[in-house]
Amino acid sequence: MSKRDFYEVLGVSKNATSDEIKKAYRKLAMQYHPDRNPGNKDAETKFKEATEAYETLRDDQKRAAYDQYGHDAFGQGGGGFGSYGQGGQGFDFNDIFNNFSDIFGDFGNSRQSKKRSSSQRGSDVRYNLEISLEEAFRGVNEKITFTIPVKCEPCGGKGGDKLENCSTCKGTGKIRAQQGFFIVERTCGGCSGSGQIIKNPCKSCGGSGRVNKEKTLSVKIPAGVEEDNRIRLSGEGEAGIRGGQSGDLYVYISIRRHQFFMRKGDDIYFEMPIKFTTAALGGSIEIPTIDGSKAKLQINEGSQNGDQLRLKSKGMSVMNSGGRRGDMYVKINIETPVKLSSEERELLTKLDKIMQSKASNPKSESFFKKVSDFFG
Ligand SMILES: [Zn+2]
Ligand SMILES: [Zn+2]
Repeated sequence: MSKRDFYEVLGVSKNATSDEIKKAYRKLAMQYHPDRNPGNKDAETKFKEATEAYETLRDDQKRAAYDQYGHDAFGQGGGGFGSYGQGGQGFDFNDIFNNFSDIFGDFGNSRQSKKRSSSQRGSDVRYNLEISLEEAFRGVNEKITFTIPVKCEPCGGKGGDKLENCSTCKGTGKIRAQQGFFIVERTCGGCSGSGQIIKNPCKSCGGSGRVNKEKTLSVKIPAGVEEDNRIRLSGEGEAGIRGGQSGDLYVYISIRRHQFFMRKGDDIYFEMPIKFTTAALGGSIEIPTIDGSKAKLQINEGSQNGDQLRLKSKGMSVMNSGGRRGDMYVKINIETPVKLSSEERELLTKLDKIMQSKASNPKSESFFKKVSDFFG
Protein backbone atom coordinates (compact mmCIF):
# COMPACT_ATOMS: atom_id res chain seq x y z
CA MET A 1 0.00 0.00 0.00
CA SER A 2 1.49 3.28 -1.03
CA LYS A 3 1.58 6.07 1.46
CA ARG A 4 -0.86 8.95 1.17
CA ASP A 5 0.34 12.45 0.59
CA PHE A 6 0.73 14.29 3.90
CA TYR A 7 -1.17 17.37 2.66
CA GLU A 8 -3.96 15.14 1.46
CA VAL A 9 -4.06 13.35 4.81
CA LEU A 10 -4.56 16.62 6.65
CA GLY A 11 -6.83 18.03 3.93
CA VAL A 12 -4.85 21.19 3.41
CA SER A 13 -3.22 22.76 0.34
CA LYS A 14 0.50 22.60 -0.44
CA ASN A 15 0.94 26.19 0.64
CA ALA A 16 -1.05 25.99 3.84
CA THR A 17 0.24 28.09 6.71
CA SER A 18 1.49 26.35 9.82
CA ASP A 19 -1.61 27.63 11.57
CA GLU A 20 -3.87 25.95 9.03
CA ILE A 21 -1.90 22.73 9.37
CA LYS A 22 -2.22 22.87 13.14
CA LYS A 23 -5.97 23.45 12.97
CA ALA A 24 -6.48 20.66 10.45
CA TYR A 25 -4.53 18.25 12.58
CA ARG A 26 -6.33 19.18 15.77
CA LYS A 27 -9.66 18.51 14.09
CA LEU A 28 -8.57 15.07 12.85
CA ALA A 29 -6.92 14.21 16.12
CA MET A 30 -10.07 15.03 18.06
CA GLN A 31 -12.08 12.90 15.66
CA TYR A 32 -9.87 9.83 15.51
CA HIS A 33 -8.17 9.76 18.86
CA PRO A 34 -8.12 6.18 20.21
CA ASP A 35 -9.66 7.28 23.49
CA ARG A 36 -12.74 8.36 21.61
CA ASN A 37 -12.77 5.28 19.39
CA PRO A 38 -11.92 2.38 21.64
CA GLY A 39 -11.14 -0.77 19.69
CA ASN A 40 -11.58 0.95 16.35
CA LYS A 41 -8.52 -0.02 14.28
CA ASP A 42 -9.50 2.18 11.39
CA ALA A 43 -9.66 5.27 13.61
CA GLU A 44 -6.33 4.35 15.15
CA THR A 45 -4.72 4.08 11.72
CA LYS A 46 -6.19 7.41 10.68
CA PHE A 47 -4.98 9.01 13.88
CA LYS A 48 -1.46 7.71 13.37
CA GLU A 49 -1.49 8.80 9.75
CA ALA A 50 -2.60 12.32 10.65
CA THR A 51 -0.07 12.52 13.45
CA GLU A 52 2.76 11.43 11.19
CA ALA A 53 1.74 13.97 8.57
CA TYR A 54 1.49 16.68 11.19
CA GLU A 55 4.83 15.82 12.78
CA THR A 56 6.46 16.28 9.40
CA LEU A 57 4.65 19.36 8.14
CA ARG A 58 4.89 21.34 11.39
CA ASP A 59 8.68 21.22 11.16
CA ASP A 60 9.93 23.67 8.52
CA GLN A 61 13.02 21.64 7.72
CA LYS A 62 11.17 18.36 7.39
CA ARG A 63 8.42 20.05 5.42
CA ALA A 64 10.95 21.45 2.94
CA ALA A 65 12.55 18.04 2.54
CA TYR A 66 9.13 16.45 2.10
CA ASP A 67 8.09 19.06 -0.52
CA GLN A 68 11.22 18.30 -2.51
CA TYR A 69 11.55 14.50 -2.18
CA GLY A 70 8.18 13.31 -0.92
CA HIS A 71 8.16 10.30 1.39
CA ASP A 72 11.61 9.30 0.14
CA ALA A 73 13.01 12.20 2.10
CA PHE A 74 12.74 10.06 5.23
CA GLY A 75 14.14 6.84 3.88
CA GLN A 76 10.88 4.96 4.16
CA GLY A 77 9.71 3.03 1.15
CA GLY A 78 6.12 3.30 2.20
CA GLY A 79 3.64 2.07 4.72
CA GLY A 80 4.44 1.38 8.32
CA PHE A 81 4.51 3.84 11.12
CA GLY A 82 7.24 4.42 13.57
CA SER A 83 10.03 6.77 14.24
CA TYR A 84 11.88 8.29 11.37
CA GLY A 85 15.06 6.59 10.25
CA GLN A 86 16.58 9.86 9.20
CA GLY A 87 15.75 13.47 9.73
CA GLY A 88 16.51 13.88 13.39
CA GLN A 89 14.42 13.11 16.44
CA GLY A 90 12.03 10.25 16.05
CA PHE A 91 8.83 10.23 17.94
CA ASP A 92 6.91 7.53 19.63
CA PHE A 93 3.25 7.15 18.91
CA ASN A 94 2.60 5.57 22.25
CA ASP A 95 4.05 8.60 23.89
CA ILE A 96 1.59 10.75 22.01
CA PHE A 97 -1.29 8.44 22.88
CA ASN A 98 -0.40 8.61 26.52
CA ASN A 99 0.00 12.31 26.64
CA PHE A 100 -2.82 13.24 24.39
CA SER A 101 -5.51 13.18 26.99
CA ASP A 102 -3.50 15.62 29.01
CA ILE A 103 -3.51 18.06 26.11
CA PHE A 104 -7.16 17.81 25.29
CA GLY A 105 -8.33 17.64 28.82
CA ASP A 106 -11.97 17.13 27.84
CA PHE A 107 -11.72 13.45 26.94
CA GLY A 108 -12.55 12.52 30.47
CA ASN A 109 -10.88 9.15 30.24
CA SER A 110 -9.60 7.08 33.06
CA ARG A 111 -5.92 7.70 32.44
CA GLN A 112 -6.22 11.03 34.14
CA SER A 113 -8.15 9.92 37.11
CA LYS A 114 -5.19 8.12 38.69
CA LYS A 115 -5.24 8.90 42.35
CA ARG A 116 -2.48 11.14 43.50
CA SER A 117 -1.04 9.07 46.23
CA SER A 118 2.42 7.77 46.87
CA SER A 119 1.21 4.47 48.23
CA GLN A 120 0.02 1.70 45.94
CA ARG A 121 -1.67 -1.59 46.57
CA GLY A 122 0.62 -4.60 46.12
CA SER A 123 0.02 -7.00 43.25
CA ASP A 124 -1.95 -10.21 43.59
CA VAL A 125 0.17 -13.30 43.24
CA ARG A 126 -0.59 -16.72 41.81
CA TYR A 127 0.95 -19.85 43.26
CA ASN A 128 0.51 -23.19 41.50
CA LEU A 129 0.23 -26.11 43.87
CA GLU A 130 0.14 -29.72 42.81
CA ILE A 131 -1.29 -32.31 45.20
CA SER A 132 -2.06 -36.02 45.00
CA LEU A 133 -5.55 -37.42 44.54
CA GLU A 134 -5.38 -38.85 48.07
CA GLU A 135 -4.61 -35.37 49.42
CA ALA A 136 -7.53 -33.96 47.44
CA PHE A 137 -9.70 -36.69 48.96
CA ARG A 138 -8.88 -36.10 52.61
CA GLY A 139 -7.83 -32.42 52.52
CA VAL A 140 -4.40 -31.29 53.60
CA ASN A 141 -2.46 -28.48 55.17
CA GLU A 142 0.30 -27.74 52.70
CA LYS A 143 3.33 -25.58 53.47
CA ILE A 144 4.36 -23.37 50.58
CA THR A 145 7.51 -21.29 50.36
CA PHE A 146 8.15 -18.48 47.93
CA THR A 147 10.00 -15.18 47.63
CA ILE A 148 7.89 -12.05 47.50
CA PRO A 149 8.09 -8.32 48.36
CA VAL A 150 7.10 -7.94 52.01
CA LYS A 151 6.74 -4.92 54.24
CA CYS A 152 10.11 -3.45 55.21
CA GLU A 153 10.39 -3.74 58.99
CA PRO A 154 12.91 -0.94 59.77
CA CYS A 155 10.67 1.76 58.27
CA GLY A 156 7.36 0.02 58.90
CA GLY A 157 6.65 0.05 55.15
CA LYS A 158 6.63 3.84 54.90
CA GLY A 159 9.91 3.97 52.97
CA GLY A 160 11.45 6.53 55.29
CA ASP A 161 10.51 9.70 57.11
CA LYS A 162 10.33 13.44 56.47
CA LEU A 163 8.07 13.88 53.50
CA GLU A 164 8.81 17.00 51.47
CA ASN A 165 7.25 18.53 48.42
CA CYS A 166 9.01 17.29 45.30
CA SER A 167 11.28 20.02 43.96
CA THR A 168 10.97 18.86 40.35
CA CYS A 169 7.21 19.34 40.14
CA LYS A 170 6.79 21.62 43.17
CA GLY A 171 4.41 19.21 44.77
CA THR A 172 1.94 18.94 41.88
CA GLY A 173 3.07 15.51 40.74
CA LYS A 174 3.05 16.64 37.12
CA ILE A 175 5.45 18.26 34.73
CA ARG A 176 4.39 20.39 31.79
CA ALA A 177 6.52 20.55 28.68
CA GLN A 178 6.17 22.10 25.26
CA GLN A 179 6.14 19.52 22.48
CA GLY A 180 5.26 21.05 19.12
CA PHE A 181 2.01 22.83 19.66
CA PHE A 182 1.20 20.45 22.46
CA ILE A 183 1.61 21.35 26.06
CA VAL A 184 2.31 17.95 27.40
CA GLU A 185 1.68 17.08 31.00
CA ARG A 186 3.64 14.15 32.25
CA THR A 187 3.70 12.34 35.53
CA CYS A 188 6.69 13.64 37.45
CA GLY A 189 9.48 11.08 37.46
CA GLY A 190 11.03 12.53 40.59
CA CYS A 191 8.14 11.55 42.82
CA SER A 192 6.20 9.11 40.61
CA GLY A 193 3.31 11.55 40.58
CA SER A 194 2.80 11.72 44.31
CA GLY A 195 4.15 15.26 44.58
CA GLN A 196 6.15 14.29 47.61
CA ILE A 197 9.53 12.77 48.17
CA ILE A 198 11.06 11.12 51.15
CA LYS A 199 13.92 13.16 52.49
CA ASN A 200 15.49 10.29 54.40
CA PRO A 201 14.82 7.13 52.42
CA CYS A 202 15.04 3.94 54.45
CA LYS A 203 18.38 2.21 53.92
CA SER A 204 16.87 -1.28 53.93
CA CYS A 205 14.34 -0.75 51.16
CA GLY A 206 15.61 2.38 49.39
CA GLY A 207 12.30 4.14 49.99
CA SER A 208 9.89 1.66 48.45
CA GLY A 209 8.76 0.41 51.84
CA ARG A 210 9.20 -3.22 50.93
CA VAL A 211 11.92 -5.83 50.52
CA ASN A 212 12.06 -9.26 48.89
CA LYS A 213 11.86 -12.03 51.39
CA GLU A 214 11.26 -15.73 51.50
CA LYS A 215 7.91 -16.46 53.03
CA THR A 216 6.41 -19.75 54.20
CA LEU A 217 2.69 -20.15 54.57
CA SER A 218 0.42 -22.98 55.49
CA VAL A 219 -2.46 -23.44 53.08
CA LYS A 220 -5.53 -25.30 54.20
CA ILE A 221 -6.84 -27.33 51.30
CA PRO A 222 -10.36 -28.68 51.88
CA ALA A 223 -11.29 -32.29 51.30
CA GLY A 224 -12.87 -32.71 47.88
CA VAL A 225 -10.94 -29.88 46.25
CA GLU A 226 -11.04 -30.01 42.46
CA GLU A 227 -8.65 -29.27 39.63
CA ASP A 228 -8.23 -25.50 39.05
CA ASN A 229 -9.95 -24.57 42.30
CA ARG A 230 -8.24 -21.55 43.77
CA ILE A 231 -7.78 -20.66 47.38
CA ARG A 232 -7.49 -16.98 48.23
CA LEU A 233 -5.23 -15.89 51.04
CA SER A 234 -6.24 -12.34 51.66
CA GLY A 235 -3.35 -9.91 52.13
CA GLU A 236 -0.67 -12.53 51.46
CA GLY A 237 0.28 -11.19 48.02
CA GLU A 238 2.93 -8.55 47.39
CA ALA A 239 3.22 -5.89 50.06
CA GLY A 240 1.96 -2.47 49.01
CA ILE A 241 4.36 0.26 47.96
CA ARG A 242 5.09 2.85 50.65
CA GLY A 243 2.59 1.50 53.10
CA GLY A 244 -0.11 0.62 50.56
CA GLN A 245 -2.43 -2.32 51.08
CA SER A 246 -1.05 -5.79 50.36
CA GLY A 247 -2.29 -7.79 47.41
CA ASP A 248 -3.81 -11.25 47.73
CA LEU A 249 -2.30 -14.66 47.15
CA TYR A 250 -4.19 -17.14 45.00
CA VAL A 251 -3.22 -20.77 45.32
CA TYR A 252 -4.31 -22.69 42.22
CA ILE A 253 -4.77 -26.40 42.75
CA SER A 254 -3.82 -29.05 40.26
CA ILE A 255 -4.18 -32.74 41.02
CA ARG A 256 -1.62 -35.32 39.94
CA ARG A 257 -2.82 -38.20 37.82
CA HIS A 258 -3.32 -41.30 39.91
CA GLN A 259 -1.85 -44.64 38.95
CA PHE A 260 -5.11 -46.56 39.49
CA PHE A 261 -7.96 -44.21 40.24
CA MET A 262 -9.64 -41.89 37.80
CA ARG A 263 -11.76 -39.07 39.11
CA LYS A 264 -14.88 -37.77 37.44
CA GLY A 265 -16.52 -35.12 39.58
CA ASP A 266 -17.23 -36.76 42.93
CA ASP A 267 -16.91 -40.30 41.62
CA ILE A 268 -13.91 -42.58 41.27
CA TYR A 269 -13.39 -45.06 38.44
CA PHE A 270 -11.26 -48.14 38.81
CA GLU A 271 -10.51 -51.23 36.73
CA MET A 272 -10.05 -54.58 38.44
CA PRO A 273 -8.79 -57.82 36.88
CA ILE A 274 -10.63 -60.93 38.10
CA LYS A 275 -10.22 -64.64 37.44
CA PHE A 276 -12.43 -66.13 34.76
CA THR A 277 -13.53 -68.77 37.27
CA THR A 278 -14.67 -66.03 39.68
CA ALA A 279 -16.56 -64.37 36.83
CA ALA A 280 -18.23 -67.67 35.98
CA LEU A 281 -18.96 -68.89 39.52
CA GLY A 282 -19.36 -65.55 41.29
CA GLY A 283 -17.59 -64.62 44.49
CA SER A 284 -16.32 -61.86 46.65
CA ILE A 285 -13.11 -59.90 46.06
CA GLU A 286 -11.29 -57.08 47.81
CA ILE A 287 -10.48 -53.86 46.09
CA PRO A 288 -8.42 -50.83 47.20
CA THR A 289 -10.24 -47.53 47.74
CA ILE A 290 -9.15 -43.88 47.73
CA ASP A 291 -9.41 -43.66 51.53
CA GLY A 292 -6.59 -46.22 51.85
CA SER A 293 -8.75 -49.07 53.10
CA LYS A 294 -10.18 -52.05 51.24
CA ALA A 295 -13.73 -52.68 50.21
CA LYS A 296 -15.50 -55.97 49.50
CA LEU A 297 -16.94 -56.28 46.05
CA GLN A 298 -19.52 -58.93 45.24
CA ILE A 299 -19.03 -60.52 41.82
CA ASN A 300 -22.19 -62.06 40.46
CA GLU A 301 -22.23 -65.50 38.88
CA GLY A 302 -21.84 -65.14 35.12
CA SER A 303 -20.25 -61.69 35.18
CA GLN A 304 -19.10 -60.42 31.80
CA ASN A 305 -15.90 -58.71 30.82
CA GLY A 306 -16.33 -54.91 31.12
CA ASP A 307 -19.26 -55.09 33.57
CA GLN A 308 -19.30 -52.04 35.80
CA LEU A 309 -20.19 -52.33 39.45
CA ARG A 310 -21.03 -49.50 41.80
CA LEU A 311 -19.82 -49.11 45.34
CA LYS A 312 -21.93 -46.49 46.98
CA SER A 313 -20.14 -43.70 48.89
CA LYS A 314 -16.67 -45.04 48.19
CA GLY A 315 -15.72 -42.16 45.86
CA MET A 316 -14.23 -38.70 46.47
CA SER A 317 -15.21 -36.44 49.33
CA VAL A 318 -17.73 -33.84 48.32
CA MET A 319 -16.39 -30.41 49.24
CA ASN A 320 -18.13 -28.64 52.14
CA SER A 321 -20.65 -31.46 52.53
CA GLY A 322 -19.69 -32.62 55.99
CA GLY A 323 -18.18 -35.92 54.94
CA ARG A 324 -20.47 -36.96 52.11
CA ARG A 325 -18.78 -39.01 49.38
CA GLY A 326 -19.36 -39.80 45.75
CA ASP A 327 -19.49 -43.37 44.43
CA MET A 328 -16.87 -45.74 43.13
CA TYR A 329 -17.34 -47.55 39.85
CA VAL A 330 -15.40 -50.74 39.29
CA LYS A 331 -15.03 -52.15 35.82
CA ILE A 332 -14.07 -55.81 35.77
CA ASN A 333 -11.51 -57.17 33.37
CA ILE A 334 -11.75 -60.94 33.13
CA GLU A 335 -8.34 -62.46 32.72
CA THR A 336 -7.60 -65.51 30.65
CA PRO A 337 -4.89 -67.63 32.26
CA VAL A 338 -1.63 -67.78 30.33
CA LYS A 339 0.26 -70.32 32.44
CA LEU A 340 -1.54 -73.53 33.30
CA SER A 341 -0.36 -76.23 35.62
CA SER A 342 -0.84 -79.79 34.35
CA GLU A 343 -3.70 -80.27 36.79
CA GLU A 344 -5.43 -77.11 35.60
CA ARG A 345 -4.89 -78.12 32.00
CA GLU A 346 -6.41 -81.52 32.66
CA LEU A 347 -9.46 -80.03 34.37
CA LEU A 348 -9.93 -77.41 31.70
CA THR A 349 -9.68 -79.97 28.92
CA LYS A 350 -12.32 -82.04 30.64
CA LEU A 351 -14.50 -78.97 31.10
CA ASP A 352 -13.99 -78.01 27.49
CA LYS A 353 -15.32 -81.37 26.32
CA ILE A 354 -18.43 -80.99 28.46
CA MET A 355 -19.00 -77.45 27.25
CA GLN A 356 -18.61 -78.27 23.53
CA SER A 357 -22.05 -79.81 23.54
CA LYS A 358 -23.90 -76.63 24.64
CA ALA A 359 -23.62 -72.92 24.46
CA SER A 360 -22.67 -71.56 27.85
CA ASN A 361 -24.19 -68.13 27.40
CA PRO A 362 -27.55 -67.07 25.92
CA LYS A 363 -25.91 -64.13 24.20
CA SER A 364 -23.44 -66.25 22.26
CA GLU A 365 -26.19 -68.82 21.63
CA SER A 366 -28.21 -66.26 19.72
CA PHE A 367 -25.08 -64.99 18.00
CA PHE A 368 -24.18 -68.49 16.71
CA LYS A 369 -27.73 -68.95 15.51
CA LYS A 370 -27.61 -65.69 13.53
CA VAL A 371 -24.30 -66.65 11.95
CA SER A 372 -25.53 -70.05 10.82
CA ASP A 373 -28.76 -68.48 9.44
CA PHE A 374 -26.72 -65.92 7.50
CA PHE A 375 -24.34 -68.43 5.90
CA GLY A 376 -27.07 -70.97 5.36
ZN1 LIG B 1 7.56 15.45 41.50
ZN1 LIG C 1 12.35 0.44 54.61
